[in-house]
Amino acid sequence: MLEATNKPGTISSPHGLYHQNTSTLVKPPIPLARPYITDEERAAVAAVLDSDVLARGPRIDQFEERMAAYCQTKHAIAVSSGTAALHLLVRSARWQPGDEVITTPFSFVASTNVLLYEGVQPRFVDIDPKTYNVNTTHVPAACSERTRGILAVDVFGYPAHWPWLTGFAEDNHLTLVADACESLGATVNERPCGSWGIGAAFGFYPNKQITTGEGGCITTNSDDVAAFCRSLRNQGRTLSPAMEHTELGYNYRMSELSAALGNAQLKRLPELLERRTQVANWYNLALRSLQPDLILPCPDTPQTKRSWFAYVIQLHTSFAPDARDHLQAALQAEGIGCSPYFPCIHLQPYYRRRYGYKRGDFPVAEGIAQRTLALPFFPGLPERDVHRIADAVTRMLPSLARTNPKHSISC
Ligand SMILES: *Cc1c(COP(=O)(O)O)cnc(C)c1O
Repeated sequence: MLEATNKPGTISSPHGLYHQNTSTLVKPPIPLARPYITDEERAAVAAVLDSDVLARGPRIDQFEERMAAYCQTKHAIAVSSGTAALHLLVRSARWQPGDEVITTPFSFVASTNVLLYEGVQPRFVDIDPKTYNVNTTHVPAACSERTRGILAVDVFGYPAHWPWLTGFAEDNHLTLVADACESLGATVNERPCGSWGIGAAFGFYPNKQITTGEGGCITTNSDDVAAFCRSLRNQGRTLSPAMEHTELGYNYRMSELSAALGNAQLKRLPELLERRTQVANWYNLALRSLQPDLILPCPDTPQTKRSWFAYVIQLHTSFAPDARDHLQAALQAEGIGCSPYFPCIHLQPYYRRRYGYKRGDFPVAEGIAQRTLALPFFPGLPERDVHRIADAVTRMLPSLARTNPKHSISC
């Protein structure tokens, strides 16, 4: 399945690709992520094309029923992207321009952009250096009289501290919204991510646990949130009369094509999650001996069970600040896909320009953003490729520059 299409000037052999002119062995590239699509999915999408129902239809209802069942929520509302799902939750929270909402600077930019869509002021809180999620000990001090809610993210599929966040939100009359776009399949106290807060957002971009091409979903136990999101995704319509628009809505609908793909993927979700866990275990074993120079993803606890979204390694603080960039370039030069996950949201040019954020504002998040690297991670990644990647990291690590004296840390 990793058959690279031959580029001009190369020939295929059982051992990889050879440049015809030099005869040097060039191993096939390993992408950062790759969806895992079977004939079941192909047939499901083809069946939609053979029907007359390409947009709204029964496959969306079925997808919603399955998502709600999986997340143990009363409702699920399928939408066109994870960002759309988050935006509808921000609207459902009734946060107004000028309100402040506590969130994390270490996430995909969409989780804060949705606040800005509504004129809501993000109030970033620095992160926990182990879980990479919002450090809850900083939350009380970040609250002001304008604070109306918390938007927490399960970064890399590791659940945020939902029981604490739920209690704090209740005690302080704050509305809690969940960005579960990376955590389908994760649980806290055996309760699925997706069932916390007033509602949770999922995204189904091709690098997520399941994909619908583009797509998203809101899961919620609230009848009001569900009805509001259903209306807003469809231009703010009421159920009847059909052409009455009682709210300012959007076209955030999912298509039948996406839902058909999503249904087939959801059916295989246990297998997809198992394969991801297997790949993570291969990495953990292959990289274990590089600790503490290399910090591996935070392990589960008896209460907190992650869903593997990405495999992100972190360089120890004894390495030079640009060591991660050198490691990234060296891996890429060998055809190994990798990416810095995540650049801090507050340091993105738009956020700097608009709010005047600067380096040093959230030092833990910034340090981790500078030292982390996501390695290739997807359900079809073969064990031999994990070993090729781990061997490359093992070989490169000693050549990376250090600034601080080496010392061991406990994790
Ligand atoms: C993927 C993702 C989103 C957005 O999903 P899209 O479907 O790309 O809009 C939001 N938040 C986080 C944390 C994500 O990883």
